[in-house]
Amino acid sequence: MERVNPATGEHIETVDAHTDAEVDELLGAAHERYLSWREVPMHERCELMANAADVLRENQEEYAQLMTEEMGKPITGARSEVEKCAWVCEHYAEHAQAYLQDETLPSPPEAEAKVVHEPLGVVMAVMPWNYPFWQVFRFAAPNLVAGNVGVLKHASNVPGCAKAIAEVFREAGFPQACFQTLLVSGSKANEVIEDERVRAVTLTGSEPAGRAVAETAGRELKKTVLELGGADPFIVLDDADVEAAVTRGVTARLLNSGQSCIAAKRFVVHDAVYDEFIERFVAEMEAQTVGDPTDEATDVGPQAREDLMAELHDQVERSVRDGATVECGGEPLDREGYFYPPTVLTDVPPDAAAACEETFGPVAAVFRVDSEQDAIDLANDSTLGLGASVWTEDLERGERIAREIEAGCTFVNELTKSDPRVPFGGIKDSGYGRELAQHGIKEFLNEKTVWVQ
Ligand code: NDP
Repeated sequence: MERVNPATGEHIETVDAHTDAEVDELLGAAHERYLSWREVPMHERCELMANAADVLRENQEEYAQLMTEEMGKPITGARSEVEKCAWVCEHYAEHAQAYLQDETLPSPPEAEAKVVHEPLGVVMAVMPWNYPFWQVFRFAAPNLVAGNVGVLKHASNVPGCAKAIAEVFREAGFPQACFQTLLVSGSKANEVIEDERVRAVTLTGSEPAGRAVAETAGRELKKTVLELGGADPFIVLDDADVEAAVTRGVTARLLNSGQSCIAAKRFVVHDAVYDEFIERFVAEMEAQTVGDPTDEATDVGPQAREDLMAELHDQVERSVRDGATVECGGEPLDREGYFYPPTVLTDVPPDAAAACEETFGPVAAVFRVDSEQDAIDLANDSTLGLGASVWTEDLERGERIAREIEAGCTFVNELTKSDPRVPFGGIKDSGYGRELAQHGIKEFLNEKTVWVQ
């Protein structure tokens, strides 16, 4: 596995993958640990998770710099990501017991029926590089406190983050093998899923990776949670606060240098406010600081890998060939590293790449619509259904439209975000299952019925 600094293209280190024998040993240790870990009282597991939050905060700068070096995340965002991981650890440390209370069921007078929650065993997480700490912690925090153990197959370009995360749990006092990193490639991941000691799989990543993992897990009858891509609509209605919509819209598109599954990707703007919106939006996109991710003043850093930037540029070029107009950006920057500037496309035909594919970088497609219904129809005209955002001063109207959008979540007058308190996940080709909140902690548990008569 190659560690490459995307801001410079410099090769940092080659990391050896685990051999088959090492993987076998790690899975054996995970399974053995599960047999004792599930017996540890939940309050003790929660205490350890609270320690993990402390470890994260103590080493915040080290972890932030590691992310910035390996995948180019601007340093201020990297620090926030570490803090958010501490938050999700604390959230489950505090709420897991309440989330997993026994549920009493309506029962006949002569019996008492309830649902109790029991862990499943070793859960495998196949994770991406874009939020290399957060994506892992939002899986690990609920699962470890619930009594499962975790094995992480992280993206091949962030092995340093993968190893550091395993270290967080060790430093926090978790018993050995509660959480381990498997350094294996994507193609090897499927052999691990087939191993009988692995009981369930969660994947965050691309649609092809999701399909491959779901196919293997399906054949093996193992439960999966899939969090795949998004082409989230950002709807600006005729009565929207345009200034706020522009400011939040730019942030929503450029978060993590545009490499976020829930970034706003398709801006659907009502004709009544379109001219004002596009003028301000293009100006704000152009005003962003693109450059060195270690500099606190940087808004947009490099794209994480050279091939990903080439793919993004290809999407822009294909869209332009199909009739789209480039309002700003549109060409990789002429400098070392994999830098792509904030780009705005208009006149995008409905079948062009920027309209119907996920653009995983700082490229916004802006569409003009004549009515609320057209906005809803365009928003729903996608094979993906992760998140959505609706902007209107009429909150009842906003909520009504939110209910009509085909997505796993819709935010009114706010950008789409993940938050430990609310469930997160998609529909359609964006995947299935939920992470975070009470819904997330229950995904990989046996909700067992106990009937006592
Ligand atoms: P991938 O989906 O290929 O990578 C995500 C994870 O899946 C990595 O750990 C990867 O391992 C693993 N993986 C890849 N293929 C398989 C497979 N066949 N079986 C099991 N595991 C597999 O994403 P990329 O990094 O290549 O990015 C490509 C596109 O994916 C992006 O442009 C974006 O559209 C989307 N994406 C979406 C994300 C999201 O948050 N929803 C996050 C990242 C990407 P390895 O690295 O070893 O190949």
